[in-house]
Amino acid sequence: MLIDNHNRTINYLRLAVTDRCNLRCNYCMPSEGIRFAKKEQLLTTEELCKVSELMVAEGIDKIRITGGEPFVRKDLMQLLRFLAGLEGLKDISITTNATLIGPHIEELKELGVTNVNVSLDAIDRENFKRITRRDQYDLVFHNLHQLIREGFNVRVNCIVLDGQNTDEIIPMLQLAKEFPVSVRFLEEMPFNGGSKSFDHIRWDHRKILETILAAYPDYEKLQSPATSTSVNYKIAGHKGTFGIIPSFSRTFCGSCNRLRITAKGDVITCLYGKPKANIRDLIRGEDSSEAVSRAVRQAIGNRAKTGFEAQENFDTVFENSMTSIGG
Ligand code: SAM
Repeated sequence: MLIDNHNRTINYLRLAVTDRCNLRCNYCMPSEGIRFAKKEQLLTTEELCKVSELMVAEGIDKIRITGGEPFVRKDLMQLLRFLAGLEGLKDISITTNATLIGPHIEELKELGVTNVNVSLDAIDRENFKRITRRDQYDLVFHNLHQLIREGFNVRVNCIVLDGQNTDEIIPMLQLAKEFPVSVRFLEEMPFNGGSKSFDHIRWDHRKILETILAAYPDYEKLQSPATSTSVNYKIAGHKGTFGIIPSFSRTFCGSCNRLRITAKGDVITCLYGKPKANIRDLIRGEDSSEAVSRAVRQAIGNRAKTGFEAQENFDTVFENSMTSIGG
């Protein structure tokens, strides 16, 4: 088992497979993109498989594949096929913008991948185009509906963006009304590749909840797993649920069970902290298995208690883009 220096068990790995994305969401990166990693800087599929296997041997039982956009990577299914056969791995999840997942839905089902988080910040076509800077609305909705129809456990993640989509909060809940999905609203964070900086947000978790409850006063608060980052609710008469994630307010660090490994092999033990190690050279070197496991164990033994503590020692934290970190 992986236990950190604050006695938190780490069993959840967010594994980024690329930093590239086919969208250009304006709160994530500038329109021209960021300085993306070169191919040789990325972990190969073989290396991603090996890292996953090592982490599962250490006690990770949930892996979320993220990016960049995971499906931009042509060899993604090879990794997923490997993960599906990995004993001890109970949960394979994917976070995606749903533009490229369509042709893979059938096989994902066969592999037993059931949890798919779809990032979607607008129901309105023009607003979607403006925020993502790409014209992919029809494709995203087509794939989203197909995932729902095929019985995937779909969570729709919507970042609440001051001045951009706050009037979409209530329309977005229409998805939870009609379908058995969880619509989750997340606070914006300043990981946008330097596009804009801020040290407080107007649309925090309280304001989001107030807005929803003013429109839907008949709701119930749901029990959530102890490690859940979202506080979850059900509105009377809705097939699905909604949740709110205080990702900027950081009220959930006490139960954080996450480890991040980026596409370049950086080991990140807190979203707001510096990478604690890099495993790319280790995995390409001698005694690689032991070296990688040791580096991760050391990183986990030296974790900040909270995101605020992690940020204290990292002045340039917000120069980064979420596309490099994996969300
Ligand atoms: N491409 C995939 C997707 O769209 O879900 C996975 C990677 S994306 C970086 C992961 C998540 O990070 C998405 O839900 C995205 O909305 C979120 N994200 C990106 N920039 C963010 C920011 N500045 N604040 C909050 N969330 C952000």
